[in-house]
Amino acid sequence: MCDSGVCEDKPPAPPVRMSSQGGGVKDTQSANHSSRPLPSEPEEKKSRNKIISIFAPEKGRKKDRDKDRPEISSPSDFEHTIHVGFDSVTGEFTGMPEQWARLLQTSNISKLEQKQNPQTVLTILKFYDSTSGKQKYIGSGQRFGRLSVYTRSVINPIPPPDADSNSQAADKQKKKGGKMTDEEIMDKLRTIVSIGDPKKKYTRYEKIGQGASGTVYTAIDVSTGQEVAIKQINLQKQPKKELIINEILVMKELKNPNIVNFVDSFLVGDELFVVMEYLAGGSLTDVVTETCMDEAQIAAVCREVLQALEFLHANQVIHRDIKSDNVLLGMDGSVKLTDFGFCAQITPEQSKRSTMVGTPYWMAPEVVTRKAYGPKVDIWSLGIMAIEMVEGEPPYLNENPLRALYLIATNGTPELQNPEKLSPVFKSFLSRCLEMDVEKRGSGKELLQHPFLKIAKPLSSLTPLILAAKEAMKSNR
Ligand code: ATP
Repeated sequence: MCDSGVCEDKPPAPPVRMSSQGGGVKDTQSANHSSRPLPSEPEEKKSRNKIISIFAPEKGRKKDRDKDRPEISSPSDFEHTIHVGFDSVTGEFTGMPEQWARLLQTSNISKLEQKQNPQTVLTILKFYDSTSGKQKYIGSGQRFGRLSVYTRSVINPIPPPDADSNSQAADKQKKKGGKMTDEEIMDKLRTIVSIGDPKKKYTRYEKIGQGASGTVYTAIDVSTGQEVAIKQINLQKQPKKELIINEILVMKELKNPNIVNFVDSFLVGDELFVVMEYLAGGSLTDVVTETCMDEAQIAAVCREVLQALEFLHANQVIHRDIKSDNVLLGMDGSVKLTDFGFCAQITPEQSKRSTMVGTPYWMAPEVVTRKAYGPKVDIWSLGIMAIEMVEGEPPYLNENPLRALYLIATNGTPELQNPEKLSPVFKSFLSRCLEMDVEKRGSGKELLQHPFLKIAKPLSSLTPLILAAKEAMKSNR
């Protein structure tokens, strides 16, 4: 899968990417990317405006890209406090809050693009402004060698009028009327966790990572000698505690060989300890950024992740944050999905969701444009993750994040940097995942039958890549 073709020609030495530092993929196109200035840091939000444009909602409207001239309709959402209009003659927005105007100015979204899709511009501005500085948990991202602030998971705190909730726990609470208070969340947690002291049940704690919500350690189970991973989360510091309950409930209930297994959980004061199986191979991000995978290895990873997705979807759960960071690897090449804080439970009565949640570059177009969506958003994200495995990063990573959202919404299926280097069967698989028309996009079950997966190598073929990634990261340090 490397440009030079050396990857497939020189086994068994695993091919290492020439550069893993933001955009250093392989070809001339990437070289251009890497020479571009980095996108500006998102500005801290200064005011919270409940802003709905005077455009009609997107639902039921003709696709933005199909229309040349924007229509202006009567106000349709009576919750709004600010009207934003678009003058198609001058090509200027009117009544736009200063904060949005500033964001738009630095977004690299051209005047022509604004004119072509003003509603999309407003939708993403609203989303971006509402999530800026409000990532899932407070803390810093850790994606090695990338622009980590932009690859963090985000959730839009302003729900659309027909909003879903973001967690099962919150769902139940909503039915009772109202958001769970911190005290109610702590009470709920106390009913979920085990009684005991994790410092006595587990020994030899060693820090292995720092996530946005807490610190991850390896430790040894005193009674069995089993090595585990323990995530320690200070609940005082978590603005969205209900997401943590969500994560524990899903991990506890849904056991599958392709999901990181939950072992136990404990609450000690404000500190929550989540014990899970330990995957020593690190995340798939390390492998995609540091090494070059061949198609047979990519097929193996896609099959394993699809197995996890088929299982989740059959249990009416949408993951909503599929990306290489959330795929962990065992040293034997086992592939497991993690990070269930964002997942949503669907029911026959409510089979669609609309909250804009996930990580922008991996988000399906129907999420970005705030349409009702279902489990197939995970399939789109899997397609983006397959591109990560080819190119080392998702499409548009070097674009300003606002423009990236605009391009996802308006470009549809992203183009590959070097499509001629991919086999027809792999391209066919990608196009089944990255199909704009959700009806036509493959389901997890359908895609597990795709001929691309038949070329998969044994999972043990991933081990040399894992070792090479670890080695490369050590020398980068
Ligand atoms: P969140 O946003 O949920 O806090 P995060 O993606 O910021 O998550 P964590 O999930 O806290 O980060 O993980 C931090 C680090 O620990 C990452 O490098 C991750 O790969 C590693 N890690 C997490 N869980 C495990 C596990 N079960 N086995 C091995 N490594 C793990």
